[in-house]
Amino acid sequence: MTNTDTEQTPVVCQGREAEAGWRAWPARVSRLGNALTIERALPQKQLRLIGPWCFLDHIGPVMFGDGDKGVDVGPHPHIGLQTVTWLLEGELLHKDSLGYEQVIRPGQLNLMTAGHGISHSEESPPDRSARLHGVQFWIALPAAEADRAPAFEHYTEVPRQSLAVMDLHLVVGRHGEQTSPARVWSPLVGAELVAREAGEETLALEPDFEHGLMLLQGEASLDGTPMLPGTLYHASPGCSAVRLQVSADARVFLLGGEPLGEELLLWWNFVGRSTEEIRQARTDWAEQDYPDGRFGQVTAYDGARLPIPDLAADVRLK
Ligand code: MN
Repeated sequence: MTNTDTEQTPVVCQGREAEAGWRAWPARVSRLGNALTIERALPQKQLRLIGPWCFLDHIGPVMFGDGDKGVDVGPHPHIGLQTVTWLLEGELLHKDSLGYEQVIRPGQLNLMTAGHGISHSEESPPDRSARLHGVQFWIALPAAEADRAPAFEHYTEVPRQSLAVMDLHLVVGRHGEQTSPARVWSPLVGAELVAREAGEETLALEPDFEHGLMLLQGEASLDGTPMLPGTLYHASPGCSAVRLQVSADARVFLLGGEPLGEELLLWWNFVGRSTEEIRQARTDWAEQDYPDGRFGQVTAYDGARLPIPDLAADVRLK
């Protein structure tokens, strides 16, 4: 399965930064409850953004025991971003202050646009599977859209492309000629690549985008280098393709976008551009009157909302 015909090999990366190739960024591992492992691959101190993508959690895989409640994250606020939830196994139940209640399953997309302000909870539904495995991302809204009205979208399926040995599930944005119907606000791609069989895939990339790749399951090598689990691989703009050698059970996530070109502040669940903006959002959550405040109320959630952390805590970069 090795291509020995070097004359057929396309130019893959051009430009000074891109020629440095794919750099490995190990994720920080944390735990939610007893069993659930979360690999936080973005943000990192030296890698804040990939295009507009500013947050990446790889959740599980986890096997919940009998009597284990599963995931239960109470109502919390967001501003200035979109959350993208994509599952490989299991289910999650989203509830928000707009009144949406939505179970998400593998192959489906939950896309929440926080904009000016929204609050939501995330739980394992009562009739859940034993296993949970997924990813959750944040996409920073560009400055012109950061204060837009909040919204929630659910898609029961996403566009799919059949490549040489993998299927590409286009979660958000565009890849090649295809564009997802999910509403995003800057040029980007988010896609899961699922192997149908072991082999080599030459994946076309948008040269104007910077890209990230993360192995979620199975084995893969990236331009000949084995991909480590729990590691995000990043390449600067200039790459027109990447070669993946994959096992038959491999699943890889691709994210990318045009560099945002903006300085962002991430504090707790807020994306902003000034400390005043973050302080105001913090005050609005801490002091708001239910249910008419900026972040509304998740009326369908039975339990307490999350308290505001101390302002000094740089909770995203611990
Ligand atoms: Mn959230």
